[in-house]
Amino acid sequence: MRSLGGRVRRGLAHLALLLVVGGAASASRKQPGAALPELAIALDAIRTERLSAHITTLASDAFEGRAPGTRGETLTVDYLVDQFVRAGIQPGNPDGTYVQQVPLVGYRSAPHIEIEAAGGKTTLTFVDDYVHDLPALRPTASATGARIVFAGYGIVAPEYGWDDYRNVDVRNTLVLVLSGEPSRPGSKAADASDPAFFAGRTRTYYSSRESKFAEAARRGAAGILVVYDPDAGRTYSVFQTLAKQEGFALAAPQTGATVISGLMTIGAARRVTSLAGRDFDALAAAAAQPGAHAVAVNATADISVKSVIRTVVSRNVVGRVAGADPRLTDEYVVYSAHWDHLGKDPALEGDQIYNGAIDDAAGIAQLVEIARGFAALPRKPRRSILFIAVTAEEKGFLGSRFYVQHPLIPIAKTIAAINLDSGNVWGRTSDVTSTGHGRSTLDEALAEAARLQGRTFVVDPLDDGGLYFGSDQIEFAKAGIPAVFPFSGSAYVGKPKDYGEERWNAYSAKDYHQVTDEVRADWDLSGAVEDARWLLIAGFNVAESSARPQWTRASEFRRK
Ligand SMILES: [Zn+2]
Repeated sequence: MRSLGGRVRRGLAHLALLLVVGGAASASRKQPGAALPELAIALDAIRTERLSAHITTLASDAFEGRAPGTRGETLTVDYLVDQFVRAGIQPGNPDGTYVQQVPLVGYRSAPHIEIEAAGGKTTLTFVDDYVHDLPALRPTASATGARIVFAGYGIVAPEYGWDDYRNVDVRNTLVLVLSGEPSRPGSKAADASDPAFFAGRTRTYYSSRESKFAEAARRGAAGILVVYDPDAGRTYSVFQTLAKQEGFALAAPQTGATVISGLMTIGAARRVTSLAGRDFDALAAAAAQPGAHAVAVNATADISVKSVIRTVVSRNVVGRVAGADPRLTDEYVVYSAHWDHLGKDPALEGDQIYNGAIDDAAGIAQLVEIARGFAALPRKPRRSILFIAVTAEEKGFLGSRFYVQHPLIPIAKTIAAINLDSGNVWGRTSDVTSTGHGRSTLDEALAEAARLQGRTFVVDPLDDGGLYFGSDQIEFAKAGIPAVFPFSGSAYVGKPKDYGEERWNAYSAKDYHQVTDEVRADWDLSGAVEDARWLLIAGFNVAESSARPQWTRASEFRRK
């Protein structure tokens, strides 16, 4: 998973908001296939021992943290191809192989930003003050004397009557924008924000940095920095970790003049604007008002980025199970999970390997076992299933983005995508959920599958909505394919009420994207087995159903 921002909201603190669909919370222990006898063989094929073996292997030190373009990739891809063959699924690439080549550019960049204004000069210090997320992929790139414009949230959303770039030309400009998105008061006193405006309290894709970067690049900006308040979340250190590593991008022709796209701290933003005699907090407050407009700050920036660039050909691993209905077999349900993690860092004292056990060896293990389950079925579903273990998710969803740009199955024939990222390793839960719930009818399929398992499907946001933008499902969604990011629940069977929340919070605080995301002796994978079975049932039913999943009207990914 690439970002794990508001994880802390998970849990039972919002009981009043819980809307429960389906079975009773006190699920009795059912046989895997009790509700669906014809799936019994497939469900029974998914076993704790196999999940454990996959995770233990993939997250072992020998796999070196599974960074794209390393020995860790070779070992991982070989392992997954071998597992797909053993699972009995067919090659997913029409060329007869289990891999799709993904050309990447690796870069190590040293950016330099000098600010000059009437109040003096300041240097923004890389990592401390800002991080890049995507530099220009050239050995050297620069912008001299770039204007600095504060452009509110950096959002153009006609459907909400919002345009932060109205009447401003941002060519040769360093654009500073706020993180997040605007909101306005709703009519109900209990609900502070209007759900008809940027989806109320739930984040829309406009709030993502990728969306802001793309808007600035389209407008020819020299750079964009999203102002990030480290107090508002704990993830800036995650971005700092990423910034010190080799970055990756798809090997595509460079368009646009953007020299740097990244994040800056609110402290640095205050320093820059105060040099020009402006109060950043006042600018930020004004930007939230209706009719807000961009403000040219009376300062200039010299930006230069030196990069060492190399080409790396990484690989997605793909396998398929052919559908049984000749009229529907050319339509596909996709399961995805990312095989990559953060590699290793020789600069670290002691443990140097980012094993990525939960993120995402656990998801890949479930993907392989779901594939095994489908392959074991005596009667396949009507539509086909494609399994994609994608590369370079941690580098910005590059494997999945490349896939939708170079699909092995036509996008129009790809009816649904189910992404697995960061599995549950702490035991059975009586509930399950889905991030960014309500965007498509796929959530109904997840709820129905949970009901068939005797589990509860909980409609309660895990976070502020940002998780939906934080893994590979976003690339499938942007391509127009209804996509879900299902997640295990928080009601752990036989455990205290707060057990799940405490486990996820501790993981989020201590181990997420750290070298300590490792296999633990006290893990209990029985919940991961049930979750994999849940997703097999859901995907089977989607592949079997006459009706294709649809985006809901509220979804920003619905084709307009
Ligand atoms: Zn991750």
